[in-house]
Amino acid sequence: MKISVIGCGYVGLVSGVCFADSGHTVTCIDNDNKKIQLLKDNQVPIYEPGLDELLLKNIKGNNLHFELNINENIKDSEIVLITVGTPTDENGEADLTFVRQCANEIAEFISPNTLVIVKSTVPVGTCDEIEGIINEKCAHSEFSVISNPEFLREGNAIYDFMNPDRIVIGIKDQNHKKRIIDLYTNISNEDKILFTSRRSSELIKYASNSMLAMRIIFINEIADLCEKIGADVTDIAKGIGLDKRIGPHFLEPGPGFGGSCFPKDARALIESGKKFDAPQTLLESVILGNENRKKNISKKILDKLDGQYENQIGILGVTFKAETDDMREAPSLIIIPDLQDNGMNVSVYDPEGEEEASKLIENVNWKQTAYEAAEDVDCLVILTDWKEFKDLDLIKLKDKMKRPLIYDFRNIFDPDKMAELGFEYFSLGRG
Ligand code: NAD
Repeated sequence: MKISVIGCGYVGLVSGVCFADSGHTVTCIDNDNKKIQLLKDNQVPIYEPGLDELLLKNIKGNNLHFELNINENIKDSEIVLITVGTPTDENGEADLTFVRQCANEIAEFISPNTLVIVKSTVPVGTCDEIEGIINEKCAHSEFSVISNPEFLREGNAIYDFMNPDRIVIGIKDQNHKKRIIDLYTNISNEDKILFTSRRSSELIKYASNSMLAMRIIFINEIADLCEKIGADVTDIAKGIGLDKRIGPHFLEPGPGFGGSCFPKDARALIESGKKFDAPQTLLESVILGNENRKKNISKKILDKLDGQYENQIGILGVTFKAETDDMREAPSLIIIPDLQDNGMNVSVYDPEGEEEASKLIENVNWKQTAYEAAEDVDCLVILTDWKEFKDLDLIKLKDKMKRPLIYDFRNIFDPDKMAELGFEYFSLGRG
C-alpha cells in the first residue's frame, strides 16, 4: 500500500519506518524543516534504539521517503495516518490544534477512497470532529476516518510496534476492515486486531495509560509504607503479581511517572470525565500522588545530607525513563531545581539525554560518563535505570565519590551487596 504518515515524532517516525519495513511504501511528512532535513540526510532526530538501522535499510530499499508539506504528497496515498502531538493545554485537556491543522490540510488533497487513520491520542469524539472538518473542505465524500491508537513504549518502540499485544481499530464503516487487516498483515495476525466503535477505541487508549499510571502510584505508596514498617516492596510486587488477576507488570517503584503520555493522558481523561459528568476521582488522586512523589524525592536526598558541608550531588539519568532522550515531564525537571534551590551543586550524566535536557535544566555540570558524575560527590542519585548503570564497576565508582552515599530511585542494585562494598545505599521500599 501507499501510505502517508503525518508527524515524524516518536510515534510517527517509528510507525512510518515499521510500515515501510513491513512492505508498504511510506512517505513521512513533518512541518519541522530541521527534522525533515535530518531525515533526508539519513539521520534520526530522536533517540530510539534500532531506529537508525531500520530507517537506513528502508530508505535504501526506496520504500521510505520524507517530505515537508502535506499537499500533493498525500494524493496517491490509500492511507493517511495522523501522528502529530496532542499536548496538555492550559485547562488540562488534550490540545487538538495540531490534529485539526492536519485535518484541514489533508482535506484538500486526499483522493477518493482514502482511509484517514488517527494514531495520535485524542479524546472521545475527535474522530467525529475530524470527519466533519474533512467533509467541509474535501471535494468528495469518499473517505473514512478511523481511530487506531498507538501503544508503543519509547525505548522499545520498534519491538512494540512489530509485536503488538493488540491493535485497536475504531471503525464506522465495516467495509474497511479488510484494508486495515492488509495494512497490518506483515505485523500481526488478524486475531490481534480488536475492532470497536471509534469512541470506544479513543477511550481504550486513555483508559489503558491511566490504568498503568495508577499502578505506578499504587506501588510507590506501598514502597513508602514498606520503608516505614521494614517490609520489602520487591517481595510485595512479586507476591501480588503472581495473582493472575493482577499480573506482574508495572509494579516497580520509582521517582514518579513522566513522559509525553501518562501525565497528559490521565489529565485529559479527568477533563473528559468532568465534561461528560462522569468524574474520574481515582485519577485525580493519581495525578496528585505523582506530583507529591516528585516533590518528596529531593527531600529524601536532602534529609541524608548536611547542606553546609555536603553540597555536591551527582545525578545518573535525567530523561523520563531509560533508553530514550525524551525529557517531557521527566521527574528530574522537578528534582534537580529543587536540589539547586537547597544549595546543591549538581553534576549530571545521561547516556542520551544531554541535548534535550540542557534546553530545560540550567546550571548543572554535564559529564560524559557515570564515573565523572560521581567524582567528589557527597551523594550519587540514580533517577533512571539505563542498562549501563546496572553494569557499572561499583568499586571504581566508590573510589571516585567523596562520601559513598547512593540514593537509587530505580532499585537497580542489591542492598546487601552495596552494604558489603561499603556504600550507604538507599533505595525504594526495601526496608
Ligand atoms: P512528537 O511531539 O514527538 O511528534 C509530533 C510531530 O508532529 C512533531 O515532529 C511535529 O513537528 C509534527 N507536527 C505537528 N503538527 C504538524 C502538522 N500540522 N503537519 C506535519 N507535522 C506536524 O509526538 P509523539 O510523542 O510522537 O506523540 C504523537 C501522538 O502519539 C500523541 O498524541 C501522543 O500522545 C501519542 N502517543 C505517544 C507515544 C510516545 O511514547 N511518545 C506512545 C503512544 C501514543
